[in-house]
Amino acid sequence: MIFSMVQKDKFAFVDAALAERTQNQQLRSLEAIDPIDAVQVMQRGQTRLNFSSNDYLGLAKHPALIAAAQQYTAQYGTGATASRLATGTYEIHQQLETKLAAACEREAALLFSSGFQANSTILAALLDRRSLVLCDRWVHSSIVQGILASGARFIRYRHNDLNQLEAKLKTASTQAYSRLLIVTETVFSMDGDQADVAALSQLAQQYNAILYLDEAHALGVLGQNGMGLAAPYSVDLTIGTFGKAFGAFGAFVACSQKLRDYLMNCCPGFIYTTALPPAVVGAIDAALSLMPELEPDRQRLMQHAEMLRTQLQEIGFETGASTTQIIPLLIGSESKTLNLAQSLADQGILATAIRPPTVAQGTSRIRLALSAAHTPAHLAQLIYSLKLSTELPQDITACL
Ligand SMILES: *Cc1c(COP(=O)(O)O)cnc(C)c1O
Repeated sequence: MIFSMVQKDKFAFVDAALAERTQNQQLRSLEAIDPIDAVQVMQRGQTRLNFSSNDYLGLAKHPALIAAAQQYTAQYGTGATASRLATGTYEIHQQLETKLAAACEREAALLFSSGFQANSTILAALLDRRSLVLCDRWVHSSIVQGILASGARFIRYRHNDLNQLEAKLKTASTQAYSRLLIVTETVFSMDGDQADVAALSQLAQQYNAILYLDEAHALGVLGQNGMGLAAPYSVDLTIGTFGKAFGAFGAFVACSQKLRDYLMNCCPGFIYTTALPPAVVGAIDAALSLMPELEPDRQRLMQHAEMLRTQLQEIGFETGASTTQIIPLLIGSESKTLNLAQSLADQGILATAIRPPTVAQGTSRIRLALSAAHTPAHLAQLIYSLKLSTELPQDITACL
């Protein structure tokens, strides 16, 4: 019988995967929160101060974004009703793309449904089986998905190690690849450190490689008018996402007009999906209009981050190479990290534990993400709670 080849329980693999994660204490689950304002949430009946959101400028509840989302909905409806190439391109999509391209100092921009969709599908469209990708070891999963989907040869260089990158480029330039592509993030999501965009741009030009940068955590926060770190340099494709500092949803790529034409024609993740809904376009447009005047917020955010890093180091925490609003509290062991997150939660601080496989084995951490809406009093509360959590005797912390 053919059926004998199939295990009796066709979902045995699901049980096995869930059991393995349960055993390793890596089973993920969802927990709902109820947002109160830009930094406070209600969770399990307790008000908690949120240090784990990517709403770096507190825009997700900004009146101008809400008003624009409402106005665009009233005027254009709740859905775009079709893909961009069918009848889903409204003037509001085109105007937003023109405005984004100008703000990023590029010829063109193209909207995508999300950062994950952009990375996983644009990279697949740019690469083929005879291509070589050189990619920072710590890039986001969506980038890895795009590379894997392309079937390209794939080498990861040590995090931010541009000497190793150059050595690999040198070797590659003597080999017969159809194309070379360098991909990295400008601000790393789990460490809050930055890539050297000037040096990357120079290397890409020297070795005739396509340079692809993901600015998910830089957009809104760093660079001229908050438009990221890539703008002043020659970079072929820059990805920005709107779900983080822009307080909305969706993503875009900034590139040449020619690359935009290519992606419109050859990127399935653009072609075969419904256009962004009017409410989202309205919110993004409002955020983009606000960007230039949010300079004081960006400066305060960076000052707070600097202050917090200093205080964390004073009480004995390692914050790695962070230079931005993302500050890891490097703990190492998974259980200690979970215990600390729980102890903070009990004290009204929401700060999520990040564990393998999201980060490397032995580098479990609490990922703190600051918002311009945090006040010095909020930071003081965080430091106070961390002190209390770590001053408990070890054996007690272990049982929390
Ligand atoms: C969040 C993130 C994405 C995904 O963006 P979404 O719009 O949330 O899908 C992509 N790349 C990086 C580096 C990110 O941090």
